[in-house]
Order: sequence, then structure tokens, then C-alpha cells
Amino acid sequence: MKILVATQKPFAKVAVDGIKEIVEKAGHEFALLEKYEQTSELLAAVADADALIVRSDKVTAEVVAAAPKLKIVVRAGAGFDNLDLPACTAHGIVAMNTPGQNSNAVAELAIAMMIFMSRCQFTPATGTEVQGKTLGIQAFGNVGRLVGKKAEALGMKVKAIDPFIPADAIKAAGAEPAASLEELYSTSDFVSVHIPATPETIKSIGYDLVSKMPKGATLVNTARKEVIDEAGLEKALEERPDLKYVTDVAPDNLAALQEKFGLRVFATPKKMGAQTSEANVNAGLAAARQIVDFFATGNTRFKLN
Ligand code: NAD
Repeated sequence: MKILVATQKPFAKVAVDGIKEIVEKAGHEFALLEKYEQTSELLAAVADADALIVRSDKVTAEVVAAAPKLKIVVRAGAGFDNLDLPACTAHGIVAMNTPGQNSNAVAELAIAMMIFMSRCQFTPATGTEVQGKTLGIQAFGNVGRLVGKKAEALGMKVKAIDPFIPADAIKAAGAEPAASLEELYSTSDFVSVHIPATPETIKSIGYDLVSKMPKGATLVNTARKEVIDEAGLEKALEERPDLKYVTDVAPDNLAALQEKFGLRVFATPKKMGAQTSEANVNAGLAAARQIVDFFATGNTRFKLN
């Protein structure tokens, strides 16, 4: 089987070497397409691929249609909004992600962002400390839970909400369950967002929630820019000069936000939450192992469609 790694933003070299080793040891052929600029390059590369490993690369209906031999695509990472799942299903292709493999990298970034904003983006201005403050975690999955543990170690009070995780399980994991999103936002000095981008969550965080935050609060987004209603966020920041926004996923209106709000808004220049060599290796190798196992035993654990 030909297993193609196609990444616009490449894996660390150590991850690529590890993927190649796993693929070749299992008797498969390894192929690599990195830093491609045109979709046509991806379309040509998938033409004879049996399996595909991607990162944030878009696997659209067009890509799937150009890959007649494709049997499995694995998104090395957690969020899978870059995969057209109905198109994969229509072509009999199994789609998977690698949940949990990059969570620590993202959780560390969320904590770093909180402190960065509390200390006025590392300028000499007088900042605040996170110890003793309340952190609200929106979605208590792999990343959210790790953020909670780290925040607890920093002396923060941790609250969380997740529509698919019972309050008892949230409590057992060491966080206080919030009764509603409104309560989470209105009682948290920081809210860290970890919801996936889905039709239900897109643009779900806007004026109504952000403007409920307590004085001096910060919204931290290491999830997806799509979950924010940018106009609503802008309005809330305009009305409330004490609020701040920090994100790993630059909003479309970033220039306007930074011009209006200066140090109250920060966005990483390029998504970097999972960009550590550890996360690259964990997610890349997991993707390779899942594909090799799928071909060897038919294992479809982590199937998304
Ligand atoms: P996860 O799947 O482990 O957790 C997601 C949580 O969201 C789950 O607990 C689930 O119950 C909850 N959820 C699902 N649908 C929801 C909804 N409609 N409303 C509210 N909650 C809902 O994922 P994770 O590893 O914790 O990652 C969370 C998100 O972070 C990913 O979906 C991805 O978009 C983003 N992410 C970003 C980076 C980055 O580089 N910045 C890296 C990894 C993940």
C-alpha cells in the first residue's frame, strides 16, 4: 500500500522519519508531499495513494475524487473540520483523527497565553497574577482537562462545562461543574475555549457571552477562529475596555481589533498550538500506526465517519 504524508505545514523531521520507519517496517510504500502551494499538487499526489496522513490540510470532495485508491485518511491531530466526512463516506474511505496526541502542547499554550495577557504581553506595565483567579473551561475534552490540571497547580480555581460530560465526571477530574455557559462566562476571570468547530458551535461565542465576563477578564481561544462571532466580540471589547482576547487562530478582523484595542488583543501569527516536536511526533506516529493497523487488522478505532 502507498501511504502518503501530505502537509502544507510540515511535521518536524524527527516525526517524518518515524512515520517512514513505521510505514516501511510494515511493508508499505512511503511518499511525502510537503509545503505544497497549489491544490493541484495535492490532487496529483493522491492519485495513486492508498492512505493519506494530513495535518490542517483540507481533504475536500475534490481531493477525495482525485484519489480512486484511497481507503483511509488520518488527520494527525484532534480537530477534523478540515476533512469532508460525507465525501469520504461516499467514496468508502475511513476517516480518523488522533485524539489526545497533541493535547499537552495546546494546553501549555493556553496557560502561556493566559499569563502573557496577565503580564500585559511582557511589557513593563503592571500586570496581574493568575493565582487565586477563576478559570472557566469551555469543553472538558483532552485539552480542556489538561488545562484544568495545570491551572490548579498555579493556584487557580477551575470551573468547567461540557454538554457531553456529566457534572460528576467534571467534579471527579478536579473541576467545579458550571450550571450553564452563562454562569461560566459571568464568573470566570479567564475562559479557555476548547470546543470543536461544528455547525452548532460556529459563531457561538459572541457579544452575549463575552460581555457577561467579570471586570478585567480574558477570553483565551486555542480552539478555532470559526467558533467566535467576531463582530460580537469586537462590540464587547469596544463597550468593555477592561476585557482582553488572546487567540491561537487569528481572527479575520485582527487588524481592526489590534488597531482599536492594542495590547488587549493578541493573535499568534500562525496557528502554533500543536507545533511542538513532541506533539508532531505523537500525532504523526499515531497516524502511521493507525493506518498500518487498519491495513493489518481492519481496526477502525478513532473512525470519524
Ligand atoms: P476533544 O475531542 O478531546 O474534546 C472536545 C470536547 O468538546 C469534548 O469533551 C466534547 O464533549 C466537547 N464538545 C463536542 N461538541 C460540543 C459542542 N457542540 N459544544 C460544546 N462542547 C462540545 O478535543 P481536544 O483535543 O480537547 O481539542 C479541542 C479543540 O481544540 C479541537 O476540536 C480543535 O478544534 C482545537 N485544537 C486546536 C489546536 C491548535 O493547534 N490550536 C490543536 C489541537 C486542537
